[in-house]
Amino acid sequence: MPEFRLFNSLTRTIEPFAPADGHTVRFYTCGPTVYNPAHLGNFRTFLFEDLLRRVLRMRGWGVEQVMNLTDVDDKIIKRATEQKKTIREVTDPVVETFHEDREYLRIQRAEHYPRATDYIAEMIALVQRLEEKGLAYKADDGSVYFAIDKFPTYGKLSRLDTREIKAGARVAQDEYSKENAQDFALWKAAKPEDEAAEAVWDSPWGRGRPGWHLECSAMAMKILGETIDLHAGGIDLIFPHHEDEIAQSEGATGKTFARFWSHGEFLLTDGSKMAKRVGNVSNVADLRANGVSAAALRHFVFSTHYRKQLNLSGDALEASTEAVRRVGDFADRLEREQGGTPALAEAAEGLLVEAMNALAEDLNAPRATGALFEFITTANRELDLHGHDVEALVRAREAFRQVNSVLDIVPESGTEDRVLSEWVEGQLAARAAARQRRDFAAADSVRKALEEKGIAIEDSPTGTRWKKVH
Ligand code: AMP
Ligand code: ZN
Repeated sequence: MPEFRLFNSLTRTIEPFAPADGHTVRFYTCGPTVYNPAHLGNFRTFLFEDLLRRVLRMRGWGVEQVMNLTDVDDKIIKRATEQKKTIREVTDPVVETFHEDREYLRIQRAEHYPRATDYIAEMIALVQRLEEKGLAYKADDGSVYFAIDKFPTYGKLSRLDTREIKAGARVAQDEYSKENAQDFALWKAAKPEDEAAEAVWDSPWGRGRPGWHLECSAMAMKILGETIDLHAGGIDLIFPHHEDEIAQSEGATGKTFARFWSHGEFLLTDGSKMAKRVGNVSNVADLRANGVSAAALRHFVFSTHYRKQLNLSGDALEASTEAVRRVGDFADRLEREQGGTPALAEAAEGLLVEAMNALAEDLNAPRATGALFEFITTANRELDLHGHDVEALVRAREAFRQVNSVLDIVPESGTEDRVLSEWVEGQLAARAAARQRRDFAAADSVRKALEEKGIAIEDSPTGTRWKKVH
């Protein structure tokens, strides 16, 4: 398999990526702020992260992914105040909707979905560490701030010009622009509306609540350790959110927080960023109401490289619906056919090589998708010849299944198969990790577990293939 390479926002170059321990990728993804159902812009980012996760697993690595749920921040408190509710009353139903939407879009479940409000003690401890190092101070407004001029590398991710830094000036909001590169709030003194919304906790600095950036640093380090392999999110998170996460984490530990930073570009509507405040959002409920399948949305999203902007339109979704119909018809045909031709086997091999190469080179999903459609054209032509080469047909099915296990763009119907695929891919990743640490007994027991479910596996230079034998 070709080496896996990924664009690292920290160095702004495409670099080889592998987990530090050689087998499990510690992967942190900034999750939704749960005051409102996530919109399709948010889901473009979560789909890019799903693609990344699936490619990492296909490479044979284990993935330990955290996606946090931000359930306390400025926006949530504002919403709670408007509705005369507590933050928990606002966020609980939204968390539920998030998981329903995620499952609809076939975004694989992460290993952890921590809620910020369950990690307040860790957040307080982190602020104390920063205080001990002289990086945090309590201001006269009762809040605790991070002193960016005491942290010389502040701005390294967003390449903030140091002249822009206004030492001593403070910004209290969770979101702010580069023009406001100032000391940011770690712990915010309680206001009456925070008390009313039950968004306050006791702390050494009095009653208050955490700043948004602090939440991710504390949860990431608690669950994944002080140095993680990969940290991802939408491009708007680079500043201030990720810059501040780095400052808080590295300021406290003196260690690299994340080895790799990966950011997905925006989803637009009519040329502007899809965003609540612009008022141009649509969500999964809208998709469902319009009969747009998960397969179609995934095809639409993966047809553009994750580092390019993508414009949502009815026409584009219709074209994707049509495209995945072709994929679904082809999937059905592959199951029905009895044999193929040697050229079909060759095309299958070509698909695997081209798709794996494309995905290995900075997640080039559009190229992988293109290879899949070329394969479908060739394969349909070959199948029309009604050949008797069973092995060729089996190769075609396997190649198709392997590529689709990453893109997941076959329209509804084969739900059972999908669940099986996900399970098998997970087992294969565990087996690869076991082999890497030379634990052949563990690797063998995975093979046995697969055989018990009627799954045969075969190792090849392009990875491990599998097929259902009965
Ligand atoms: P939020 O719920 O606002 O914290 O955002 C959750 C994720 O969605 C973050 O990674 C954002 O960067 C991402 N995001 C927000 N708007 C868009 C958009 N229009 N296109 C792509 N990603 C977005
Ligand atoms: Zn975050």
